[in-house]
Amino acid sequence: MADPETEREALFEAVENVAARIAAEKGYLTDLDSAIGDADHGTNLDRGMQSVLDQLEGKEEADADEIVKTVGMALISEVGGASGPLYGGSTMHASQELADGVTAESTVAFAEAFLEKLQDRGGAEVGDKTMVDAVTPAVHTYKKSIEEDDLPPLEALAKAVDACRRGVDFTVGLRASKGRASYLGWRSVGHQDPGATSTLFVLEELLATAEAYLEGDTDTDASSPTIPDDDPEGAAE
Ligand code: ADP
Ligand code: MG
Repeated sequence: MADPETEREALFEAVENVAARIAAEKGYLTDLDSAIGDADHGTNLDRGMQSVLDQLEGKEEADADEIVKTVGMALISEVGGASGPLYGGSTMHASQELADGVTAESTVAFAEAFLEKLQDRGGAEVGDKTMVDAVTPAVHTYKKSIEEDDLPPLEALAKAVDACRRGVDFTVGLRASKGRASYLGWRSVGHQDPGATSTLFVLEELLATAEAYLEGDTDTDASSPTIPDDDPEGAAE
């Protein structure tokens, strides 16, 4: 993505889509958290995303890294619980990778920095039944698809979403060893992790947004973007 105006527009659209999805899934996420936690994951994230929308008001001219940093800061201050500092802190930390804009390369760096901070802060490994089980396969798949398989970003992201979904399914059979769910010990087995599930919803919305902006743009050369002239899905309404 070359043109900063389109980049901003896509980022705002992505945030709005994520906020709408989280609002729609609030009850479901909270139900998942009521089985193995304290029944607040959906309401936590929904409150956080509403605050993100508020904090982004007036930032329509900001650069990509500042927009994403604002998202992270709003999540840290509003979400609370385990997921707020983890999602927010990782987003804020990784935002600096977008200082030169949103490209295949910078989004790989963003994804890696996000995962690194997430593990650094939360101390969870794959298999502990947390959002790390969803983020890790998504990040590794995205990186490999771009760097080794030379896929266009949209295809790489679609593969990352598939990998994330398998990660979420994988959490069902696990015994939790981090976060509140770990208090349940073996009784956590058989339940899908709420944080892994919200990660999947976020990535699905990023993919849907990227599709709307990059569809047909299989050329990763930033100097020749094929962004449609007309406004996809009424983004400017
Ligand atoms: P809380 O558990 O404090 O109520 P939330 O309900 O908002 O916070 O979020 C719960 C989710 O946070 C879990 O489903 C899990 O995915 C994630 N989580 C909890 N602890 C950790 C950790 N140490 N590392 C990574 N993710 C974690
Ligand atoms: Mg909770």
